Amino acid sequence: MANPTHRHTRSRRDKRRANWKGQLPQLTECPDCKEQKLPHRVCANCGSYKGKKVIEVVSK
Ligand SMILES: [Zn+2]
Repeated sequence: MANPTHRHTRSRRDKRRANWKGQLPQLTECPDCKEQKLPHRVCANCGSYKGKKVIEVVSK
């Protein structure tokens, strides 16, 4: 199995990790309620998907 031959310096390791950033998920607008939602997911606000209401939204 592939194994690292040499240990990289702290500097090199940290430079690599400097590019590692958390990403915000891509958001789209719900066509029914215009709320921001995750793509390919049922809308959490109105419970609709592909123009149909698929789940009942329980809200306080
Ligand atoms: Zn919605």
